[in-house]
Amino acid sequence: MTAFIDIDGIQVSPDHYIDGHRVGSSESFADHSPIDGRLIGHIAAGLPEHCDAALDAARRAFPAWAALGPAARAERLLAFAEAFKRRGDDLARVESEDNGMLVTRLRGHQVERCAHNIAFFAQQALQQQDHRIEGKNARHHVRYDPAGVCVLITPWNSPMMLTTWKLGPALAAGNTVVVKPPEWAPLTCSLLADIAHQAGIPPGVFNVVQGLGATTGAALVADPRVARVSFTGSVPTAKTIAAATARHLTPTSFELGGKSPLIVLPDADLDLAAATAALQYRNAGQVCLAGTRLLVHADVADDFVARMKKVVDGLKVGDPREPATEIGPLIHPRQFDKVTGYVERARARGARILWGGRPHPQGSLYYEPTLIDGVEQEDEIVQEEVFGPVLTLQRFTSDGEAVHLANGTRYGLAATVFGAPDHAAVVGRQLRAGMVWLNAFFLRDLEAPFGGVGDSGIGREGGHWSFDFFCDIKDVMQPQKPYAPAFAGR
Ligand code: NAD
Repeated sequence: MTAFIDIDGIQVSPDHYIDGHRVGSSESFADHSPIDGRLIGHIAAGLPEHCDAALDAARRAFPAWAALGPAARAERLLAFAEAFKRRGDDLARVESEDNGMLVTRLRGHQVERCAHNIAFFAQQALQQQDHRIEGKNARHHVRYDPAGVCVLITPWNSPMMLTTWKLGPALAAGNTVVVKPPEWAPLTCSLLADIAHQAGIPPGVFNVVQGLGATTGAALVADPRVARVSFTGSVPTAKTIAAATARHLTPTSFELGGKSPLIVLPDADLDLAAATAALQYRNAGQVCLAGTRLLVHADVADDFVARMKKVVDGLKVGDPREPATEIGPLIHPRQFDKVTGYVERARARGARILWGGRPHPQGSLYYEPTLIDGVEQEDEIVQEEVFGPVLTLQRFTSDGEAVHLANGTRYGLAATVFGAPDHAAVVGRQLRAGMVWLNAFFLRDLEAPFGGVGDSGIGREGGHWSFDFFCDIKDVMQPQKPYAPAFAGR
């Protein structure tokens, strides 16, 4: 076993977690904190033998975990969720150090939500398993059988949330899992393994293999032992994974990027819309659901921009561990260069920077909240996901034009509309997006479907949709009337 990484007295193992044991590696990768660039530690890199051992452990553990049934699994998963909450403060501090999220948001919202991700699906599985249909011809008992070994692949922008969001339903359904956490922020997944272990999740049911996507991730998703791949990340990676899983026809769900519109109709509450628009800078804009394209009616655009500026001027950029901070750093120098590149190219094309548009004086990976005006629909900055604190502004003069602009990218994850309730509802219905908020933003309930259309993904997770994906659905039928086999009958 390799020495623990110490974060403010919290011990985090840099090793994999396979079959209930910590397993080191002859190879490692460096993990740096986005807060100040300091080296946090060297993390075990997954080699082919680690992927093989983890998949094998998950396969061996599967029959017993599946046979437990949803009630006994729920008991164990609820204990896991409780143990998670007890380590909530540690998890918040480690996640903040590793990916730069605000510690206040992690403590105040994310820890609770992550524990709920596990507990909610444990309870949902109890109802899911027993779906009955009284048909004209047959009495159907629709069974949700566990699928087998699931590989869960997560990105760096919210790794703890996204891991638990997949882990909860996958385990509740009776599957066993191998998680490949993101290489830029792997640490909370390692803590999660400790918590699962201590909460009594049996060896092999939950395994963690760390490593780079192109090697470790690629080996896991291509393996024929895998029954499901659940992936959250970028479009280019999704295409590579789709090609790999196609070889064995492994069902794969994709939760991908976004370029979501935030529409402000002329009858909107402008203060509410402006405050929500400023919220899109949360997590330094590294949020898949962020409404990064502000589409504002020309009659109210100047007023809206002035109100938004007041909110943005008051935002505090800085160290995410400080309670007063509202915007932390970008995750990595490569992400910083990507964001800077998009802004500089937009500037060079003649776009107007209304505010921001440069690194924050704080230095390091901090970037100023930015709003870019004078852009065209076909511009790169309007079409591509920047994944930084960078928003664009476009003006429209009719509902039809707003809808046309909103639907005019390859993405379709989410959309937000501010306006008089009936007006917003009419516009909202015409938007091509997996999720639409009317006069609100980021409201989520776990029983509702989550996912996007177009380049934003394939499939839905959440509520029963998670079980539709993580289970083999089987219809067991008995005749309604006495059954008599006959060639001419049906
Ligand atoms: P990414 O695609 O680069 O990486 C995501 C994960 O995939 C990482 O763990 C990585 O190691 C792994 N990976 C990379 N290549 C792989 C391969 N060939 N085979 C298997 N695994 C591989 O994405 P990222 O930069 O980490 O994350 C940012 C992206 O995620 C953004 O596009 C963002 O919008 C999206 N995202 C979407 C949602 C959603 O729910 N829709 C949520 C959060 C983030």
